[in-house]
Amino acid sequence: MEKKHLTCIVCPMGCRLEVTLDNGKVTQVTGNTCPRGKKYAETELTAPMRTLTSTVKINGRYEKLLPVKTTPMPKGNMEKAMKLINEITVSAPIKRGTVIAHDFTAPGVELIAGKSIE
Ligand code: SF4
Repeated sequence: MEKKHLTCIVCPMGCRLEVTLDNGKVTQVTGNTCPRGKKYAETELTAPMRTLTSTVKINGRYEKLLPVKTTPMPKGNMEKAMKLINEITVSAPIKRGTVIAHDFTAPGVELIAGKSIE
């Protein structure tokens, strides 16, 4: 049995979690105020995920950048994601919510426009 301590980052409450593991498997989570904390702890200790927010260049509008964000992706892909984002240029017009890249750094991860540009 092993104990780990985490701070849940799912919402601003930041609950302090105590996680019990048995052979690397989560067997108990305490300190969570809601069920999302248990799910967060299980994911964080097995396959941690993060959402990345950034900006991409807009073709022909050198003074403007388009805000973008990813759906949750493996935490270890952050550096690769930033390199790819720096190489992306989009063309206007583009609507908020448009998927700019499918399977972005991992299967099922999408890079999404965060704002509409005319
Ligand atoms: S356990 Fe629930 S209430 Fe606590 S920080 Fe996580 S999401 Fe928020």
